[in-house]
Amino acid sequence: MKPTIIALSNQKGGVGKTTTCANLGIGLAQAGKKVLLVDCDPQGSLTISLGYSQPDNLPVTITDLIKKVIMDKPIQAGEGILHHAECVDLLPANIELSGMEASLVNVMSRETVLRQVLNEIGQQYDHILIDCMPSLGMLTVNALAAADGVLIPVQAQYLSAKGLEQLLYTVSKVRRQINPGLRIEGILLTMVDSRTNYAKEISSLIHDTYGDKIKIFHTDIPHSVRAAEISAEGKSIYAHDPKGKVAAAYRELTQEVIRNEKQRQKHKSDPIR
Ligand code: ATP
Ligand code: MG
Repeated sequence: MKPTIIALSNQKGGVGKTTTCANLGIGLAQAGKKVLLVDCDPQGSLTISLGYSQPDNLPVTITDLIKKVIMDKPIQAGEGILHHAECVDLLPANIELSGMEASLVNVMSRETVLRQVLNEIGQQYDHILIDCMPSLGMLTVNALAAADGVLIPVQAQYLSAKGLEQLLYTVSKVRRQINPGLRIEGILLTMVDSRTNYAKEISSLIHDTYGDKIKIFHTDIPHSVRAAEISAEGKSIYAHDPKGKVAAAYRELTQEVIRNEKQRQKHKSDPIR
């Protein structure tokens, strides 16, 4: 079966892409899915947050697999894949990826090298989540070119309408030119402060502005220091603070993602009327 590939993207920094990638991924694994997390950020934050605190010392990373694709060399089964204790696999990244981004300029099919990597290594998974870097450069275009859907974490109080427009423009351009099947999985409000009504206002603002064009997840991710603690711990929010509100929210988000997927599959198999 073909995996469902979701890119987590927003060119704005610090909105919860990496945290959501790790915890939605581990949530899906807990729901019985086979999950690969792909670090597509030279900062290696996802790699670090899953416990590999020195990504620059890793012998094989995403960069090596992209190089192999560019050089038309085969990728060995399991090459570069790390296994996390909470039952997700990880394709790690480190700073070498930033040099790779620069050198892609002269490569044939430079927008689809990541898609080719995932085609080779991804077939055994149900879900692949790609953690994008905070930019709309070539690596993000590669992630969007490889993905079925893009999940956009947005920090409600810092929502930038212009920033969102730019991202949506990039998505529609990738859809037109490279990946016609790309859909917007949804906007996810993160770090929501429950003491204010701001999140609801923002949510209705986005609804009003973008209408039916964009789905907004029913689940919001609340702000909590417990969530901020996990990036240094190498484990998920479910392991760190299982009874907390952020763990509950990520469980809920996981279910929402699964429900949406089931609905799409159902629509696909509906007889044409
Ligand atoms: P970047 O653009 O740098 O890749 P990002 O979008 O991946 O950032 P994260 O790294 O996931 O964002 O989160 C940014 C910071 O906010 C981190 O320090 C993280 O621990 C913290 N954080 C994430 N989610 C929450 C939350 N629900 N409550 C409080 N802090 C959070
Ligand atoms: Mg990140």
